[in-house]
Amino acid sequence: MTTIASNLQAVREAIASSAAAAGRSADEVALLAVSKTFPAEAIREAFAAGQRRFAESYVQEALPKIEALKDLGIEWHFIGPIQGNKTRHIAEHFAWAHSVDRLKIAERLADQRPAGMPPLQLCLQVNISGENSKSGAAPDEVLELAKTVAKLPNLVLRGLMAVPAPNVDVALQRAAFAELRRLHEMLKGEGLNPDTLSMGMSDDFASAIAEGATIVRIGSAIFGRRNYSERKP
Ligand SMILES: *Cc1c(COP(=O)(O)O)cnc(C)c1O
Repeated sequence: MTTIASNLQAVREAIASSAAAAGRSADEVALLAVSKTFPAEAIREAFAAGQRRFAESYVQEALPKIEALKDLGIEWHFIGPIQGNKTRHIAEHFAWAHSVDRLKIAERLADQRPAGMPPLQLCLQVNISGENSKSGAAPDEVLELAKTVAKLPNLVLRGLMAVPAPNVDVALQRAAFAELRRLHEMLKGEGLNPDTLSMGMSDDFASAIAEGATIVRIGSAIFGRRNYSERKP
């Protein structure tokens, strides 16, 4: 077995045990393999080991990989910061966008989604408390944003996404994820119908699953350490 295949198996087992510990079924939690900074061959290896959903953070880096791997029928998710001038590529090449944090971006994606493609599956990124990143809508803006985005054509609003500040303290990890879950429940109470909580990465996915994550986004635990800064544009 290759390293990637055995890492994948270990991650799947860890997801299953976290789900079991939370009284949840493992198939309520989808594994999204975050392949940013890793080459197409690494993605092929993970695909050969059964992984079908992959995520990228930088449009420029993703496009050649998507092209090189188009024989595989991968489901591509976009999870990086979205600039207005990159929306067309996202609308044309991805199945999901997790990192939409303002109306203008959602409107551009709706306009630019090609006719004949299924609707783009969308999560709103929320900047929950304690985050140092500038990405994400403020929690008190989420309801209004969600109501407006839910009416746009060519998109399906699936739920919420967050990238809490890294924290080794499990109680603090859980508190951040619980805040996203509360916002998600609030949207349900307002007549929206979100089914996706995209939260949890290599170092905190057990906490995210305990708080209801339905998609975990895992990179380094599958592919190894990234050897250039993930902030690289
Ligand atoms: C890089 C990245 C991940 C994966 O992080 P790991 O710690 O390598 O698992 C998940 N989500 C987002 C938004 C990312 O940018």
